[in-house]
Amino acid sequence: MSQSEPILIVGGGLVGASLAIALDTAGIPSVLVEAAAPRVDDQPSYDERNLALARATVNGLDAIGVWAFAKERATPIVHIHTSRAGDFGSVRMDAAAEGVDALGWTLPARELGAALLRRLDRCTHLTRLAPARVEGIERSEHGWCATIDAAGERRRLSTPLLVGADGTASGIRAQLGIGTREHDYEQALFVSTMLPERDPAGRAFERFTDGGPVAVLPLADRRVGVVLTVPADRADEVAAMDDTAFLAFAQERFGWRLGRLTRPGKRAPYPIRRVAADTLVAPRAVLVGNAAQTVHPIGAQGFNLGLRDALTLAELAADAADIGSPAMLAEYARRRAPDREGTMAMSHGLIRLACLEQPMLGPLRSLAMLALDRVPPLRRALSRRGMGFRENAPFAVREKTP
Ligand SMILES: Cc1cc2nc3c(=O)[nH]c(=O)nc-3n(C[C@H](O)[C@H](O)[C@H](O)COP(=O)(O)OP(=O)(O)OC[C@H]3O[C@@H](n4cnc5c(N)ncnc54)[C@H](O)[C@@H]3O)c2cc1C
Repeated sequence: MSQSEPILIVGGGLVGASLAIALDTAGIPSVLVEAAAPRVDDQPSYDERNLALARATVNGLDAIGVWAFAKERATPIVHIHTSRAGDFGSVRMDAAAEGVDALGWTLPARELGAALLRRLDRCTHLTRLAPARVEGIERSEHGWCATIDAAGERRRLSTPLLVGADGTASGIRAQLGIGTREHDYEQALFVSTMLPERDPAGRAFERFTDGGPVAVLPLADRRVGVVLTVPADRADEVAAMDDTAFLAFAQERFGWRLGRLTRPGKRAPYPIRRVAADTLVAPRAVLVGNAAQTVHPIGAQGFNLGLRDALTLAELAADAADIGSPAMLAEYARRRAPDREGTMAMSHGLIRLACLEQPMLGPLRSLAMLALDRVPPLRRALSRRGMGFRENAPFAVREKTP
């Protein structure tokens, strides 16, 4: 096999772009094929959604030189408050109690996208094809041969390792014959920003209600990012609301912890589906990010998890004698399994349990919240998870000790 052939990454969303940069940082040649033109406004996921980035994620983005372009736009999260309407008790995580300056940061996806594009421009071992689409793949003797349509021009490219970073509806996953397990939450999600009466001062809130979960994230200029989940059968009604009605709806769902909510920004709806690939690897091929697993956005795990996929893969590629070999891919699947399964199970379980209306569950949930809040080892374990620290994590995301 020719090791001089580049790794082929299909999809330059948040995760595919991060992977390309991580490989470049390690001096490994790759080709990044992205369907959208390399502009923030053209890239579908570089949009208005506000990303809660775990502390570990920011360590990783810093290690690959992206954070320097993003940090001015990010807002630190110093406190996270989780509660459920109608139950007593809450779980609080606090940066000072953990001895850190922030548990994580909030950053609009378009700002992270802009930072990734600026960092991509500085890559020296990377070839970027955008706008361009991978139209088909065929097995070759030593890997895969992809047919690419780059602005009407057809190209063929051989690779020892094909990476599907092409999102939830991954065409690469389908062409590799990898099946999925899917779950429809029968919910829709609305994302907006608002100005609360009281300064959020770095506090993030997650509130579970019978109608679905609500997340409120601190943003720059005293604003907050609001993520509202509604049952699918109410999606049209909420989409049709004028600003006054939408504010009242958000207020009713979130409560008054930050006083009156005012001045809503743009409102964007998103569908919610959980899609988990049956396996992460195929011969000389691997899945990362949403192509590997798409989780409910309310847990704020999708990109955090996807970046750990990308950085683990880059780390293994840097150490591999034969990039894409069965041994390397088996190690990738082994290293990612506990984080992937654990994060998917936790976010899925939490949303189902927290939103169930059975009256018997209320007291049990309240007790669980009190235990998590009051028992220091439990709270500490939860805070470590919240900050994105996991066993088997890639080195780049681990906390640096001074
Ligand atoms: C409302 C909302 C809020 C969220 N909040 C958070 C949060 O707080 N924290 C968090 O960690 N995550 C969050 N997420 C999840 C996060 O946004 C996703 O996990 C992340 O964007 C996934 O990135 P990706 O690169 O894997 O996929 P995508 O962003 O979907 O990128 C896939 C790319 O592949 C390209 N592509 C597809 N097919 C081809 C092809 N054949 N050839 C070339 N290119 C192709 C597409 O153009 C696209 O750019 C949120 C998601 C939503 C919807």
